[in-house]
Amino acid sequence: MNVAVAKVESDSTTFNIEAIRREFPILNEASEKNSVHFLDSGASAQKPDYVLKKMDEMYRTGYANVHRGAYTLSQLATDAYEGARKTVATFLNAESVDEIIFTRSATGAINLVAGSFGRAFLEKGDEIIISEMEHHANIVPWQLLGEATGSKLKVVPVDQDGNISIDTFQSMLTNKTKLVAVTHMSNVLGTIVPVRQIVELAHANGTAVMIDGAQGVVHSKVDVQELGADFYVFTGHKLYGPSGVGVLYGKKELLNKMPPYEGGGDMIEIVTFEKSTYRDAPTKFEAGTPPIVESVGLAAAIEYIENIGQDNIEIHEDNLLKFATSELQKIPGLSIFGLSERKAGIISFNVEGIHSHDLSTILDSRGVSIRAGHHCAQPLMKKMGVEATARASLGLYNNKEDIVALAEGIKFAKEILT
Ligand SMILES: *Cc1c(COP(=O)(O)O)cnc(C)c1O
Repeated sequence: MNVAVAKVESDSTTFNIEAIRREFPILNEASEKNSVHFLDSGASAQKPDYVLKKMDEMYRTGYANVHRGAYTLSQLATDAYEGARKTVATFLNAESVDEIIFTRSATGAINLVAGSFGRAFLEKGDEIIISEMEHHANIVPWQLLGEATGSKLKVVPVDQDGNISIDTFQSMLTNKTKLVAVTHMSNVLGTIVPVRQIVELAHANGTAVMIDGAQGVVHSKVDVQELGADFYVFTGHKLYGPSGVGVLYGKKELLNKMPPYEGGGDMIEIVTFEKSTYRDAPTKFEAGTPPIVESVGLAAAIEYIENIGQDNIEIHEDNLLKFATSELQKIPGLSIFGLSERKAGIISFNVEGIHSHDLSTILDSRGVSIRAGHHCAQPLMKKMGVEATARASLGLYNNKEDIVALAEGIKFAKEILT
């Protein structure tokens, strides 16, 4: 995780970047017409052949609805879907497969926690602590919950470097604090938040913790038992899997105490017009037809990255982050937002005199894809005193040429715009 790890990937036998790049069709097909330097994996990552083939194969040979039919195809599909749950459980080191709920996205998973846990257990005057660098997906559901229950939001500030103060966090915990909901890794600043410490302090206060792992799980190995968080949330499409699937991990005893979130098929035991009874987790929280092939695609993505090795990916990305940071810092008038000692492959920056949208357009004309805007974190933008930033985010397939193209593109933009 730390940027200060050395060893460059190009001569490593375990991490062959050129071979990896060949496994992502979009990088190759596009490169014949136009070089593609894809630096927006923080918004959504590209997918390897391995994932695409698994999904295609299921649609062609093993597709039906799950948990429904007694016929062979439905059983095959159910086995694949439940197998995906098992893969996710092992990936997170959950104690039980019943602790893994498939949702439509990270957003869907956070809304599930707010709609079920939040509405059942929070009352007027109760408090939820979040940080100043949350994605809108980890702000707005708590505001909606507050409107429904009268609970309040408290926000831990972020300092100049993009860190939150643990002491400040601790001082904000009260006997009214029912939930801490913080990001594992900032999607704007790249900061890795000390979530383990946060969980310990919150639990000592009798407070439950939800970690938004939409970015964190992509850049580091997560062990939910070691972390101890009550909920951990992530999304398929940022982890080289498909969109349309997310994951909520929840501790089993907690999930079984929580009421259903949505009602519908599959989540019930017996339905009458007077009253219905519900099944246990995870089924209780999966009303209706779930993201069947998407879950299988996500499991394939997990197999893919585990095959490369999460440690190898982390080292590669840390090296690239270091290289990119130093290349960008050489450009006069460029300032980087977020220089925490603990950060992973995301760099937000602005160039004096150039709006990030213009920069992004010019970079695009040179085959470099970056994000420009508020990155679904308007409160953080306000804190940093900017409306928008440019953001380059790294994936496991990025290489030094991508970074050089970015730096050259920025210099070109400066020449023609300032
Ligand atoms: C992308 C992101 C989300 C939302 O993920 P969706 O898949 O869009 O629901 C939440 N939190 C963080 C930190 C993110 O980067």
